[in-house]
Amino acid sequence: MSELRAKILTEAKRIVVKIGSRILVDSEHGGVRTRYIQKLADSVACLMEHGKEVVIVTSGAVGTGMAELGYAEKPKVMAEKQACAAVGQIDLMYAYREMFRWVQLSCGQILLSADDFRDRTRYKNLQNTIKTMLAKKIVPIINENDSLAVAEIKVGDNDKLSSDVALFLDADLLLIFTDEDGLFDDNPKKNSKARLLRFIPEITPAVLALAGAPGETGSAVSTGGMRSKLEAIRAVVNSGANAFLANGMKVLPHEVLFENALGTLFAGKKQKMNSRRRWLSFVSTPKGSVIVDKGGVKALQKNHSSLLPVGVIQVGKHFDAGDLIEILDESGNRIARGIAQYGSDNLNLVLGKKTPMVREILGSDIPEELVHKNDLVLF
Ligand code: GLU
Repeated sequence: MSELRAKILTEAKRIVVKIGSRILVDSEHGGVRTRYIQKLADSVACLMEHGKEVVIVTSGAVGTGMAELGYAEKPKVMAEKQACAAVGQIDLMYAYREMFRWVQLSCGQILLSADDFRDRTRYKNLQNTIKTMLAKKIVPIINENDSLAVAEIKVGDNDKLSSDVALFLDADLLLIFTDEDGLFDDNPKKNSKARLLRFIPEITPAVLALAGAPGETGSAVSTGGMRSKLEAIRAVVNSGANAFLANGMKVLPHEVLFENALGTLFAGKKQKMNSRRRWLSFVSTPKGSVIVDKGGVKALQKNHSSLLPVGVIQVGKHFDAGDLIEILDESGNRIARGIAQYGSDNLNLVLGKKTPMVREILGSDIPEELVHKNDLVLF
């Protein structure tokens, strides 16, 4: 193990471990892979003996419930999926509780929706609860509140949930376990010569492109594909934490830290993001969106400037002053998010216009920036 890699991994104190459905659900017979959870509990106990704090983000509720309710594929109807989650979540937690008891560890269930992150008071409560659990050496086991969450309040997939959790807990390391060995320089399912990349110092657009198109999704039971994993990892490394992607069928968490396990390590940015910027970056569903031209993208990414109306070509989704908005490029890629200083109705009057003209149209009191750089987080 290289020195840097060893340092990053062994020095991590607070660790969020995300386990995908394919690892937790028996794809042949249905039901929870209890043997796996037993090994996971052992591994978590090992980490805790080394003074680590561990939070688990689990998938598998819908997948487990599907088998019990007789679905071969994930149902498309939301209420049916939610019924699967309601049934599967208890089977899943039963397995966690039993297996963690074997290693003398307590675990506790936390089910979240995006609102818990958006609302400042709920967010603080949640932080206090999880931090108290960690202080008492209880392992929090987190999933999305699937049986209640509707589209508007959904975090999305559990890759996103795990990065939200890592960000709001200021974790040092996010471990994502999937059914691939890590990130390859080509699709390993199509190209047998594809090479596993062991270390990614920075998630550039070229690295993102290795994961396929935005929106590419997973299998019969899982939700996110490689793209959603990289998006989640990108949010975490941008905040200054590190991330590791490994095959949960072969690798356990303690092996990543102490045994040079196979996988891809993504280095966090040197500068740690402060809590306000982390908060901005993980609020799950921005209210509105705007599309910026190439010049606007460059100003944001290269010069870290504020966003001015001159760079905006279109309003995507309506928003009001003070709302969180998403900033997209012309191909629909997410570039940044931030707090808008005025609403989309006003913006529509000044698209592509320079500041003097903006002030002439909207009045001299209007702020120069649509989004000030202090309220802006790049992806
Ligand atoms: N929360 C979902 C479940 O427990 C999984 C979503 C995901 O894997 O991204 O079934």
